[in-house]
Amino acid sequence: MPVMEIHRLNALSDNYIFLLHDAVHQRAAVVDPAEATPVFNALDQLGATLTAILNTHHHGDHVGANQSLLARYPDAIVYGGAADQGRIPGQQVYLTEGDTVTVCDREATVFDVPGHTRAHIAYYFPPEPGTAGGDLFCGDTLFAGGCGRLFEGTPAQMVESLTKLRQLPDETRVWCAHEYTLKNLEFALTVDRNNSALRDRWQAVQSARQRQEATVPSCLGLEKQTNPFLRWDQPTLQEVTRSRDPVRTFARLRGMKDQW
Ligand code: ZN
Ligand code: FE
Repeated sequence: MPVMEIHRLNALSDNYIFLLHDAVHQRAAVVDPAEATPVFNALDQLGATLTAILNTHHHGDHVGANQSLLARYPDAIVYGGAADQGRIPGQQVYLTEGDTVTVCDREATVFDVPGHTRAHIAYYFPPEPGTAGGDLFCGDTLFAGGCGRLFEGTPAQMVESLTKLRQLPDETRVWCAHEYTLKNLEFALTVDRNNSALRDRWQAVQSARQRQEATVPSCLGLEKQTNPFLRWDQPTLQEVTRSRDPVRTFARLRGMKDQW
């Protein structure tokens, strides 16, 4: 039976690093290691060896610890997007849409999700038989209540990328790389005022943050109901952006958030 425990580690001011732990074989993989110290501490505590680094994109707050981790675990394999070649320190595997990566005896499927950067990828572990919900590691593409800024991609690319993620089952756990949820929902309320699910979520997140609790992972079903950047086809948002075109609606929402 494959066993994969997911540990969420705090890094920098608002980043999360995810450590995927195979407790049977005492192996582990990390997703987007921003910093080495929290990863070393977690590995030591678990008594596990690092065998893989999964990067979603080349930004420093996602690959910053690759070299330090490799210095201590030289056999770890570094995965990233094919189009990130030359931008991810230590990268050995160049992934594109539909490729698979096996860690902790579980197989992740890769999605190309350009927009935040031109080479951004996401890793999706489908649910194990008999369990509800798979695990999506989406870096800075989809956030809880929001989405990444468009640094290298176009709104059309981002809509296509988010469409792929939106098609996953509602029970999917969304492991995004930053704790931006409260701010994202505050913005969401300015464009999607009469959404009661959004209001409830904002209240829940506000109290969670007051208790210093993490809001990641979130659940894709809730994102579909409350995240304006997955809701370009909702009449309220089309009205606010004065467009029925998905790309234009999305682009205007993204522009409003950038200005907010
Ligand atoms: Zn980024
Ligand atoms: Fe980031």
